[in-house]
Amino acid sequence: PAEAILRRQRVRESAARTYARSFPIVPVRAHGMTVEGADGRRYLDCLAGAGTLALGHNHPVVLAAIRRTLDSGAPLHLLDLATAEKDDFTTALLESLPAEFAGGARVHFCGPAGTDAVEAALKLMQTVTGRRGTLAFTGGYHGMTAGALAVSGNVAVKEPLPSGGEVTRLPFPFRYRCPFGLGGEAGERVSVRYVERLLDDPSGGVVRPAAMIVEVVQGEGGAVPAPDDWLREMRRITAERGIPLIVDEVQTGVGRTGAMWAVEHSGITPDAMVLSKAIGGSLPLAVVVYREEYDGWQPGAHTGTFRGNTLAMAAGAATLRHVTANGLASRAAAVGRYLMTELTALQRQLPVIGDVRGRGLMIGVELVDPSAEPDVCGAYPADPALARRVREACLARGLIVELGGRHDAVLRLLPPLTITDEQAHAVLDRLSDAIAAAAP
Ligand code: PMP
Repeated sequence: PAEAILRRQRVRESAARTYARSFPIVPVRAHGMTVEGADGRRYLDCLAGAGTLALGHNHPVVLAAIRRTLDSGAPLHLLDLATAEKDDFTTALLESLPAEFAGGARVHFCGPAGTDAVEAALKLMQTVTGRRGTLAFTGGYHGMTAGALAVSGNVAVKEPLPSGGEVTRLPFPFRYRCPFGLGGEAGERVSVRYVERLLDDPSGGVVRPAAMIVEVVQGEGGAVPAPDDWLREMRRITAERGIPLIVDEVQTGVGRTGAMWAVEHSGITPDAMVLSKAIGGSLPLAVVVYREEYDGWQPGAHTGTFRGNTLAMAAGAATLRHVTANGLASRAAAVGRYLMTELTALQRQLPVIGDVRGRGLMIGVELVDPSAEPDVCGAYPADPALARRVREACLARGLIVELGGRHDAVLRLLPPLTITDEQAHAVLDRLSDAIAAAAP
C-alpha cells in the first residue's frame, strides 16, 4: 500500500508539496527521534516537524496530557473562550519566558501557525505606532502569508510578489557569506552602522517604521546565528528611536538553541515575541506575547476561528514544563556543542563542507564547490546539487535531513532535544558517510 499511497499523493496533491518530495516514505509509527516507514525501515529524524518536536515524536508526557484532556470531556474547540487548559498553558508559557519580558506581558492567541502570529505582531505594531513600514533582514524567514512573506528574505517564493506592505531589508550579519564583503566583527560593526545611518539619514533614509522583526538564529535561512553583541545593538538602535522590536522565536524557542528562549543568550528584552512550533507540543498553536504598553487593539480588532485548540494547549503546557524540569535546554547546548565539534573536525577532511554553524540543536552544514573561485570572504559557491545528493544518501542510510539556506545547500540538523548520545553518534556516522559518498 505504501507505493499506492505515494502514487496517489503524486497525482492528487498540489504541485507545491515539498517535504513529501524530499522524503518519499510513508511513515506509519514514530517514537522519540525514530520514524518507522511502511516498509519497516527506521529513520533517525533530524527534521522533527521542521523543529517542532522538542520532545520528539509521541513523547509519553505529551500523550498523557492529550489523553487526560480528551478523557476530561473538555471542549476541544472554543474560539477564544476562557478554559482551564488555556489558563494553565498561559501560566506555563509566562513562567518559561524571561522575567523582565513576561512581567505584565500580554498573550494574544493566534491561530494556528507561525505565520499567523507573525501577521498579528506586524499588524499590532502598525496599529499601536500608527506607522507602516517594517525593517527585516536578508536570509530571514517568517512565513507564507502576505505580510510574513514580505518580511522574509527568500526571493524565489515571493515571485510573483503578493503585496505585504512596505519592507526595508537590512543585511543580516552572516559571518560565512558576509554582507559588504567584510567578515567577522568588522562586518557586524558595518551592519550596525548601516542600520543607524539608514534610520537617521534625513535625505534618503527610511521613514520611521512600525517595527523591526528578527530571528535570533535564522532557521530556514540556513542556521545562521545573530551574534549577541549585534543583537544588543539592534535592541539599542530600535529602543533609541521608538521602534518596537519583534523577535521571531517560532523555530528557536523551547530550548532548541541551548536556552529556553534564544533571546536569553544576548539578554535583550524584545517588545514582542512570536511563538509557535514547539509551544504546541506537536499540535498547532501560535501566540504573540508583547509588553503591556503595546496592548493597543480594540476588542475584536484581530480575531480568528482557531485560537483555542484545547489539546494543543494541554500538550504545549506539558512540553514547556517537561523541557524546564529536565534541563533539556542545557542538554541541547551540550549535544549541540558535541555535534558542532565533530562536524568541524569532519570539515577538515571533507573540503565540500564550507561551513559548520549554529547554536544548540539548530545546526547547519553548508556544502560548497571547493573547485570554484571563493568570494571576497573566502566562501566557495554553494552546491545545491551536492546537497540534494547528500539528502538522498542520508535517507538511504536511515537519516532524515532537510535542506535550507540561501541556495538550499545547507544540511539542517534539528533533532529533538531528547536525542541520546547514541543517536547523536549515529547521526554523525550516517551524515559523514553520506557526504563522503555523495561528494565528487
Ligand atoms: N518564523 C520562523 C522563524 C519559522 O521558522 C517559521 C516556519 N519555518 C515561521 C515563522 C512560519 O511558521 P509556519 O510554517 O507555522 O507558518
